[in-house]
Amino acid sequence: MKRAFLVHLLAMLGVLCVLHAAEPLSGSPAKPNIIYIMSDDHAAEAIGAYGGRLAPLNPTPTIDKLAKEGMLFENCFADNSLCTPSRASILTGQYNHRNKVYDLDGSLDAAHQFLPLEMSKAGYQTAMIGKWHLGAEPAAFDYYCVLPGQGEYFNPHFLVRGDKPWPKNIVKHEGHVTDVTLDLVLDWMKHGRDPKKPFFLMYHNKAPHDNFEFAPRYKDYLKDTEIPEPSSLWSQPHFGSIATRGDHDELLPYIGSSIGTRNPMRNMVGLFGLGTLPTEEQRKHAAYQEYLKRYLRCVKGIDDSLALFLDYLRSAGLMENTIIVYTSDQGMMLGEHDYIDKRWMYENSERMPLIIRYPKAVKPGSRTDAIVENVDFAPTLLDFAGVKRPGCMQGRSFRTICETGIEPADWTKDAYYRYWMHMAHHDNPGCLGLRTKDFKLIYYYGMARNDDYNHGLRTPPAWELYDLRNDPQELVNIYDNPAYAPIVKDLKQRLAARRMEIGDDGSDYPQIESVVREFWDYDAVARDKAVQLSHQYRSIKESVKDPWNDRPDQGWGKRVKEPTPPPQAP
Ligand code: CA
Repeated sequence: MKRAFLVHLLAMLGVLCVLHAAEPLSGSPAKPNIIYIMSDDHAAEAIGAYGGRLAPLNPTPTIDKLAKEGMLFENCFADNSLCTPSRASILTGQYNHRNKVYDLDGSLDAAHQFLPLEMSKAGYQTAMIGKWHLGAEPAAFDYYCVLPGQGEYFNPHFLVRGDKPWPKNIVKHEGHVTDVTLDLVLDWMKHGRDPKKPFFLMYHNKAPHDNFEFAPRYKDYLKDTEIPEPSSLWSQPHFGSIATRGDHDELLPYIGSSIGTRNPMRNMVGLFGLGTLPTEEQRKHAAYQEYLKRYLRCVKGIDDSLALFLDYLRSAGLMENTIIVYTSDQGMMLGEHDYIDKRWMYENSERMPLIIRYPKAVKPGSRTDAIVENVDFAPTLLDFAGVKRPGCMQGRSFRTICETGIEPADWTKDAYYRYWMHMAHHDNPGCLGLRTKDFKLIYYYGMARNDDYNHGLRTPPAWELYDLRNDPQELVNIYDNPAYAPIVKDLKQRLAARRMEIGDDGSDYPQIESVVREFWDYDAVARDKAVQLSHQYRSIKESVKDPWNDRPDQGWGKRVKEPTPPPQAP
């Protein structure tokens, strides 16, 4: 009786539209719908709400509004800043040594797609639309429509469930991938959903991944704007170590792909065909501007599509009982340290943007500096869905942080990091490390799991320490500064303890672990050996007569190891 009266009253007031079918009026409180929106390589630096150097360009008004209506996480980090491994950590709640998705060759089979499996058990309808990049069929989802591998920017093919075995059910769509993905999501929302169930949707954009192919309508966006440059693009005399620069900078051409032609094999000058400009300064400047403009045009496409999506959610009355997450699988180096791509543990790569909007429980405009990791995502979303953390997951739920802004007393103080794909594609040495609120300790051990990439050549091991309170741009490696010796000692102990706690104890790869131990204390003998490894690496690279043929994985778009099925028109 009361309910009928309430409905009548609301109808009279013209607000009945907010009480959509997904929000029952009676019975037990409805489980929230969960929409997890993830873009690919979208750095927090390129989101206005994070207030970085690109914020004055107003690159993301829609995402910024989402942040104003929810909580922004200042210290969210990927355990491995690379597409496939980070996605595996998100889906499993496990670090890569546990889920075994170490690099781009990794694959996550349906039995290990824990997040959708647990959501299904909790009564959710599940869907995965967009970039997947986890090899195996996303079979744990009720519905999927995913790009094969990296997917295409224009007229993309998608893989769906069908008569033929995965990955042979291929559908082609016309248009730019960001627009197509939005259309697919809206189509599922309107016609695929079961209104009797709460839903869990993973909505994954391909953009702004390289090669930054924006929709033609954005060609004039930022055309006449000078994009601010980071100082470290040009000068950083105290940055890095022998691991990233070589002895007396001898490895600068070989470590880390670049904006300018520092790395002659892979740089933005080459990608954009700017090699004919007369000076390196002009080439580097032009390449940076072109890189950032293309990237930000892709970001703009994401932001605009999100605005349309939110309009739909509003019109469908789904804004109240739905948790909306915006994030990226990792960050992206946007010219900081003259680096491009991700993989690094440096801030713009390791940091993930994370915004959570849920008006029923998350205070609008709130922010937290609590350290959260991608392995915490699944336990948190499941917690919101009323599911206790499954024992297989290593991450922890940060639901109470979302709801109260308060870190539990026993909340983690460190984010763990490990990059396994030593010297593949973008010439980043294998490393592990720890990120606290104040410091970052990086240990480049410089060794591969196997010799698939770059012949498994070792690079010189070294440690780097950055004081993020005084040096947020990570310009000064203070590992050898005696004033920081107690910090180094403490962080090394914490790093060792964390490794044991999460089981990354080296037992899978004893040959790497022996190197990790050999250079752990980094005494004079170890340092001498690192110098020899630096000389050896340079000497081998210099002796290669035809570096392009020597490194087939180097070419743009020739990532030979990725499991991309050849698209075929139906
Ligand atoms: Ca990515």
